[in-house]
Amino acid sequence: MFEKIYTGFHAATMSDGRYGVIEDAALAVAGERIEWIGPRRELPASDAPVVDLGGGWITPGLIDCHTHLVFGGDRVDEFEQRLLGADYAEIARRGGGILSTVRATRAASESELLGSALKRIDGLLAEGVTTVEIKSGYGLDVENELKMLRVARELERQRPVTIRTTFLGAHALPPEYKDRADDYIGLVCEQMLPAVAEQGLADAVDAFCETVGFNTAQVERVFRKARGLDLPVKLHAEQLSNQHGTELAARFGALSADHLEYLDEAGVEAMAESGTVAVLLPGAFYILCETRLPPMEALRRHGVPMALATDLNPGTSPVNSLLNTLNLACTLFRMTPEEALTGATCHAARALGLADRGVLAPGKRADFVLWDIAQPPELAYWLGGRRLCRKVIRAGEEIASC
Ligand SMILES: [Zn+2]
Repeated sequence: MFEKIYTGFHAATMSDGRYGVIEDAALAVAGERIEWIGPRRELPASDAPVVDLGGGWITPGLIDCHTHLVFGGDRVDEFEQRLLGADYAEIARRGGGILSTVRATRAASESELLGSALKRIDGLLAEGVTTVEIKSGYGLDVENELKMLRVARELERQRPVTIRTTFLGAHALPPEYKDRADDYIGLVCEQMLPAVAEQGLADAVDAFCETVGFNTAQVERVFRKARGLDLPVKLHAEQLSNQHGTELAARFGALSADHLEYLDEAGVEAMAESGTVAVLLPGAFYILCETRLPPMEALRRHGVPMALATDLNPGTSPVNSLLNTLNLACTLFRMTPEEALTGATCHAARALGLADRGVLAPGKRADFVLWDIAQPPELAYWLGGRRLCRKVIRAGEEIASC
């Protein structure tokens, strides 16, 4: 039984990694789900109310599958210092870098963290994002990691958005554990993870596998504990060097491996075999002025699904726009607009283990966006300054006119 029927638009369903264009489409919802979608002339007879959307295109609600959008303070000073000639070591000596965000996050109250995170999430929602992943990782002790995750969960109560939380205790080494990384991993595994799991605060577990992060043996300890607690894993991998973290992640059936600029062929093969999604983050690549591209050709050849995300964070990716990220992915990584849009819908859903969204099809959640565009690649074409999002329908309810 249809409850409501929408007409007056073209649809890009994003099914099977393609635009999946339906011209002059109709979409029927029942409750939170899509009941029917197809050409309007084939719509089954129904006396459900009809809403004419008045032109434009619809796509699935966008999904930002990798963010660090809960944090204290910002790193604006550091941005300026760097452009005045200071290098990373100098900035670190002045108390900058990730540990300055850790200090600011620890010092912030939950309501302060919530207040600043709301501004950032509102920026995403205004451009048609309906699902956002948020990681912890700036608390780096039991109390503050839990605080970050509670704030992330609270955002879902305050805004019409699905939040997926990821515990990233193994993000960086806190100053009180300097030169004792194995001891810190012990804290992550024996105290943080059990508390996070018991309080139901995380949907997945992540780590930063890098020379400046944690090694594969340490990440493996975190993954073992996470899987023992029935939590899926994902990994920041091969961003600045090839640590073969992706192969480790694949062995643990990771939902995704993220960044991947230094990923090699063996890593790509491991991902293809385990069904792990490649989450590409062109915002961080851009801000860090990196030059080495992820192995796009090998990822395509092995059919590894590629997702895209903002990596929104105060240090390496102050990128508060998923639409701009589509453009960066096309210009910097040579993704096609179709691949980019698939990466922010269908494949992003998969990177979060969400089978109920990311495409427009019967049975899926009725999360969709009406865009003021003449054709789908336009979503990746503009770089800022255009209000493309006209309306957002989430779980069958209209939530915003952008
Ligand atoms: Zn990240």
